Amino acid sequence: MNHALASVTCMDARINPFQQLGISEGEAHIIRNAGGMAKDALRSLIISQRLLGTREIAIYHHTGCGMVTFEGSELKRLVKWANPDNESCAAQVDAMDFLEFTDLEQSVIDDVRFLRESPLLVAGTRITGWIHHLETGEVRTQFFHPTPVLILIACRLFE
Ligand SMILES: [Zn+2]
Repeated sequence: MNHALASVTCMDARINPFQQLGISEGEAHIIRNAGGMAKDALRSLIISQRLLGTREIAIYHHTGCGMVTFEGSELKRLVKWANPDNESCAAQVDAMDFLEFTDLEQSVIDDVRFLRESPLLVAGTRITGWIHHLETGEVRTQFFHPTPVLILIACRLFE
């Protein structure tokens, strides 16, 4: 059992987050949102760490993710089009960042970097990034950030 783990993954219905992690129900906090985006998960990660004691975070993005198929500006236009002349609606949606991305690997690297640089998380948290290949079921690409030397430091801190 690893009660120390929080995982962030996409809400895509094809993903079984427990299978993705190779664990059983009850062994980790699973935070899901569109894309498995770290910025969107930050609120839950702070609660997971400070109130429930998790000390490791794994970020999972996946191949075939819908987050590469749209532009935030288009989505904003759709929302506003459905609520014409509603200034409050327009202001709220304009203030949102839908966090869409074009480069899958870079999106994982950016998210790992974002969390590692966040002063809101517990110092020494082990943060890893992964790409889940939906076609094969494999989770085979792993990203540490920022450098291999720091990986060793991060692992040592975690251990
Ligand atoms: Zn997705």
